[in-house]
Amino acid sequence: MPAKVILIVEDEKAIRDMIAFGLRRAGFEIREAQDCRAARTEIAARRPDLLLVDWMLPDMTGLEFTRQLKRDPNLKELPIIMLTARAEEADKVAGLEGGADDYVTKPFSTRELMARIQAVLRRVDPAVGGEIVDIEGLRLDPVAHRVTAGDKPVVLGPTEYRMLEFFMTHPDRVYSREQLLDRIWGGNVYVEERTIDVHIRRLRKALEEFGYDRLVQTVRGAGYRFSGRGE
Ligand code: CA
Repeated sequence: MPAKVILIVEDEKAIRDMIAFGLRRAGFEIREAQDCRAARTEIAARRPDLLLVDWMLPDMTGLEFTRQLKRDPNLKELPIIMLTARAEEADKVAGLEGGADDYVTKPFSTRELMARIQAVLRRVDPAVGGEIVDIEGLRLDPVAHRVTAGDKPVVLGPTEYRMLEFFMTHPDRVYSREQLLDRIWGGNVYVEERTIDVHIRRLRKALEEFGYDRLVQTVRGAGYRFSGRGE
């Protein structure tokens, strides 16, 4: 699996460096932004898997930035951990109500931060934990990169595998072609939206002999949904 990308939004370079150093050693790919504007540019260039957002930033508060991201339909699922020097319970509540997924109080150890990051990543993406995902007997093993139906292997190309992994870990929700491009290919890759349809067709074909093609549902005028439930 490619390294998870973490964007650190923090204006104090010393803290940014300290966090980046520890997380790089833990195998993460690190991006940095010194304010919310720079963070926006980074997010547009490549969607990170998780954001660490400091509370005190020069152009707006981390809380306001978090609220903005959570209001954006394309970005609202981006996991955010807020960093703050303020340990008051009221701030923590405000942070979580603003849409942050977790909250870490300075000073924190890299170890503590790592634990929070892993917990949040596992929550939003079960594949991170290496757990097997099973939907109606269709099983995806993210560690072995293997998909089986019953006990028969399902043969998939790399893109169809990534697509199925995304779908199986985000079931029952409709994603537009644009969102799928962003989530499966990453924001910096130029792929035509039509390409999605080609891979959807291939994925359905691979699942067809096991009767699972019905899980890949077209939602007219909206996009695609992966679901064991009916329309
Ligand atoms: Ca700061």
